[in-house]
This record gives sequence, structure tokens and C-alpha cells, in this order.
Amino acid sequence: MANKRVGVYPGTFDPVTLGHMDIIRRGLRLVDRLVIGVATNPGKGPVFSLEERIEMVRSEFGPLVKDTGTELQVEPFSGLLVDFATRMDAQLVLRGLRAVADFEYEYQMVGMNAHLNPDVETVFLMASEKYSFIASRLVKEIASLGGDISSFVTPTVAKSLYERVGRK
Ligand code: ADP
Repeated sequence: MANKRVGVYPGTFDPVTLGHMDIIRRGLRLVDRLVIGVATNPGKGPVFSLEERIEMVRSEFGPLVKDTGTELQVEPFSGLLVDFATRMDAQLVLRGLRAVADFEYEYQMVGMNAHLNPDVETVFLMASEKYSFIASRLVKEIASLGGDISSFVTPTVAKSLYERVGRK
């Protein structure tokens, strides 16, 4: 189909949280095809391998896509985000915004990316109030300390995370 609206939602997703899922769910309404770009990001020392992170995102989203009619793709990516977006034929990059800390980082990244490729527009969705405090990093920390993470991730993700970093 010509003039399809395609978006890319990049992240590390180590692991995918209810916050990410909320952004994806809302993002699906904005585009005809949404590509979730799972970053290799060795620098961040992910707990889950690239393959595991992709698999988690894929299995969480199978049922959801049927409802929306939007095409959802989950792809690995490394290198420049603007190059990944171009390769995916995407006109927009989707990001979630939580607090002021996100804003500063995102503001710089948008500026740099706009210079690298002015044809790719970054669109921000405000984190829903319910999920605005959820961060993968903290979820991992809480899991490793044996805390309850059931309000932050799905039961399947929680199980994998406890198996990997903590008790239960
Ligand atoms: P990154 O390595 O880019 O920080 P993340 O996996 O942490 O990757 O996040 C990917 C995107 O999802 C970012 O735009 C981030 O701001 C957003 N995000 C993460 N957690 C939430 C949340 N709880 N609510 C809304 N957006 C979120």
C-alpha cells in the first residue's frame, strides 16, 4: 500500500515493562505499521540477550495486534537510529517520556537525529500516570532484591526475570 505510515519504537527493553507496552499500545493507533527496534546495546550490559528480549516483546504482543489491525514487527537493531528508521521505511520515531530526566536526554537526541536525517520526525507520548515511574533498570534491581514486580511487568516477564536475577 502506498503512503503507509510507518513508525519505529526503539529501546533496550531489558525487559519489556508495562510502561513500554502502554506506549506500544497507544503507538499502534498512530501508524499503519509499527516496528519495535530492540537495541543490541552491549554498553548497557543487558540482563537478557538480544534474542530473549525480542522473544519477550513478540510474545507479549501477539494478541494485542489482532485487535488493532496495525502491523507490528519486532526487529533487532544496532548502529544509528536514523539509519534503522530509513531501512524500515519509517517516517517517525516513537518515544515515551516519563520525567524531566527523560526530557533532557531525548531533547538532545532529537536535535542530533534531526541533523542526521531531517525526514525522520520524533513523536513523544507522555507516559500514562499509572506507569510513569516504571523503569527497566529499577524493575531488575527490585527483582534481584526479592521484591514484588507484579505491578511493573507481565507474569511471564516477571518469571523470566526472577529466574535470571533473583529468587522465586
Ligand atoms: P533506552 O535504552 O532507549 O532507554 P528503554 O527500553 O529504557 O530504552 O526505553 C525505550 C523507550 O521507552 C524510551 O523512549 C523510554 O523513555 C520509554 N519508556 C520506558 N519506560 C517507560 C514508561 N514506564 N512509560 C513510558 N515510556 C517509557
